[in-house]
Parts: sequence; C-alpha cells; structure tokens
Amino acid sequence: MRPDELLCPRPEGLYCPPGGFHIDPVRPVERALITHGHADHARAGHGHVLATAETLDIMAIRYGEDHAGSTQVAALGETLIIDGVAVRFHPAGHVLGSAQIAVGRGGLRIVASGDYKPRPDPTCASFEPVDCDVFITEATFGLPVFRHPDAGDEISRLLGSVGANPDRAHLVGAYSLGKAQRVIRLLRDAGYDQPIYIHGALKRLCDYYESQGIALGELRPATVETGGKGDFAGAVVLGPPSAFGDKWARRFPDPLISFASGWMMVRQRARQRGVELPLVISDHADWDELTATITAIAPEEVWVTHGREEALVRWCEMNGTRARPLHMVGYEDEAE
Ligand SMILES: [Zn+2]
Repeated sequence: MRPDELLCPRPEGLYCPPGGFHIDPVRPVERALITHGHADHARAGHGHVLATAETLDIMAIRYGEDHAGSTQVAALGETLIIDGVAVRFHPAGHVLGSAQIAVGRGGLRIVASGDYKPRPDPTCASFEPVDCDVFITEATFGLPVFRHPDAGDEISRLLGSVGANPDRAHLVGAYSLGKAQRVIRLLRDAGYDQPIYIHGALKRLCDYYESQGIALGELRPATVETGGKGDFAGAVVLGPPSAFGDKWARRFPDPLISFASGWMMVRQRARQRGVELPLVISDHADWDELTATITAIAPEEVWVTHGREEALVRWCEMNGTRARPLHMVGYEDEAE
C-alpha cells in the first residue's frame, strides 16, 4: 500500500479511504478523528467524532453537547480498528487533550501530529515521538528565525514589569484554550500568588482545566462591576486577543498591553497590535524543535500540512528525507 492510499489530503481535510474517516476536517463529515480542541481543528457538525476525553469535553463546552451525531473516547496508547485500519492516539504536548493520531495498515504507519510542541508544559501531557514511515507535521514556525525562548524566562519578564509598574494593570492577551491556562500556571509556578483576573470568555475553559487537576489558583472575573477601576492597579488581567480592541480593555487604569504568542518574535506584529510587552510563549514547535523531532523520528517521508511549508520541506530534502507540502487550507497560525 502506498502512503497516499492510506491517508490523502482532500479539501475537507486528511482522508483515510480504507477507514472512511477524516482527520481534523474543516467541513462537516460522516466520521471525524480530532487531534485537539482548537477551533480550526475541531469543528461542530460531524456525524461521528473520535477524540480524547478532554478534546470531547472541550468541544462540548464550546459547541454544546450536541456538536456531533455521536462521539467516542480514544484512550491514549490504545489501538482501535476502524474497517481494518489501526488507529492510535499519542500525546502531542500542545494543549490539554491534544493528540497525534497514528494510522496503520499492512505494515505501513503514518502519524498525523496535528499541532504539537516537544517542550514541557505543566498543563498537558508531554509530546511523545512515535515511530512511523510518514510523519505529518505542521510548520507554523517553520523558519530558522523562529527560536522560542524559555517560557519561564518570559514569565519572569512579565513579573518584573508588574513589580516595576505597580500603578498599571497588565493586560495579557492569551488564546482562551491552552495559552491562557498555561500562562496562569506558569505564573503560579513562578510564585505569583495574587488573584489573577480573567475575561469572561476564559472562564469555562479555566474551570475545566481546574476540574482536570490543573490548579490555577485564585481567579477573579475582570469586570468593573466587581470593583472600582483602581482595584486593577498592579494586577494581572488575562483576556482573549479579540477583547483588546473593544471597550473592555479601556476600563483598566493605564493598561500595559502584553500578548503571549510565538508571533511576538516578530517585532512588527507586536507593534501592529500595540503590544508594549511582547511575551514569546508558543504552543507550537519552533524551528529547532521541528527539525529535532524529524531527526529523532527519522521517517521515510515527511508531509507538511500548513505554515512555512517550503523551508521545512527544503530542510528535509537537504537532510536526506523525502518531503512534500500538502498546502492544506483552513488551519490557522497559532490562532483559534
Ligand atoms: Zn492548535
């Protein structure tokens, strides 16, 4: 069997003809296998969804219990057979519940990694390299200029700024699934024990992370109704990036705008967003991690789904690994 007979790119997503399922389809399909809960990978309206318990919970929180006709939990490391195709989920280290999906048949194994990061993250299970013939990777940060610093050092810079600006509210933009909880957990790990204020859009997912044993400390709603404007002086306030343009952000005293994203490596992006304190904290692999992962797995072939595909494909070819870009549409850059 050729690899593209087992898994092939279709406009709606990666498709497995013998198994009759799609992985992370961007349109409603009969049978979907979902790597993680970010909105560009997990969509509502599928006939049947197979995903980790956490991803299914997250989809239910975001889309309602009836987001799919039926659902099935995939336990990490457990092999399921779908019409003669072996399917197994492995941790991806991206956000809570995130998984790579290994698909095998007749001695051929392909791993669709979804979004992943190999570095430790206190809010989710660690990425696990899986032996395979074809490794499918994204390349969001697939250029040598993208080298993410240690997240703990970025948190130290945030706390340094909070200490140096006791009269200002630090408004930290962080995506509501994964990044926000990771930033909060990293603040706690750094010894910050003050209440942290959160925008209403983050509440349900923060509650869910707590319910899964990820302690986030005292979280308070970041609403003026709960106190006077002065109450936020010196406070850390987290909100989704989309909230920073509206009047929510203007209610805080002399706000200092910060944003936690891998894109903060790019000064121009930080400037465009009016970010005073860029924090380079990413839930994706950086260039060194992409290339180290491919080196460690040593697959016969690499397929690159989206992102800076050409640079990673060229790197693979220069290092003796066949590679091809899939040019998949519908997946975003560290957004949701
Ligand atoms: Zn993602």
